[in-house]
Amino acid sequence: MTRRVVLATHNEHKVHELQQILAGAAADLDLEVVSMAAFPEVGEIPETEVTFAGNARLKAEHVARTTATPALADDSGLAVDVLGGAPGIFSARWSGQHGGQDLPRAEKDRRNLQLLLDQLADVPDEHRRAAFRCAAVLAVPGGATVVSEGLAPGVIARAPVGENGFGYDPIFVPDGGTRSLAEYTDEEKNAISHRGRAFRGMVPLLREHLV
Ligand code: IMP
Repeated sequence: MTRRVVLATHNEHKVHELQQILAGAAADLDLEVVSMAAFPEVGEIPETEVTFAGNARLKAEHVARTTATPALADDSGLAVDVLGGAPGIFSARWSGQHGGQDLPRAEKDRRNLQLLLDQLADVPDEHRRAAFRCAAVLAVPGGATVVSEGLAPGVIARAPVGENGFGYDPIFVPDGGTRSLAEYTDEEKNAISHRGRAFRGMVPLLREHLV
């Protein structure tokens, strides 16, 4: 039996990544993973909580309720040790929104990572540790809401390198590697990423909660 799940995000990069991750990890589940494009009536959902899990829960429950379809959401970001975990939940808007709301995503990403590099300009290599974090949430209409979290540790580089991925990928070098995440292929990134880990952890929960 095909089980339909909607991905509660408007970020096409994420939809692509999540479809790939779930196709690999949940092949036997016969999932039909649809994007928000199938539900144009659901607008942008304000992220008013202060944790990744709280915001992912808001998005998943809102979309599950308004579409009457089980919904998967993620909330994610980059936590830099020397900044006490910032940008954290502010990762998508770290360089501010004033006058920048209509900027293309790639330009926002570029400004965000440039500001972070400037803030860390005099921080020596041994203090540049960071981690990408992700909370994945499944909300079933009239049923359970469950969470799976994932983490990818690494360091912040000194300059952006690479063209793949999105967001802070060009300045993040995962532990155990020497390249930035923007130099990884999709498959390589999914194998180690915070989102890959959170959503692979979600597979047993999908098996349990989707009927
Ligand atoms: P969200 O869409 O509210 O989860 O915001 C996530 C923000 O964190 C994105 O806009 C990026 O700036 C950053 N981010 C999350 N995941 C990644 C990733 O895999 N690579 C690079 N940046 C990421």
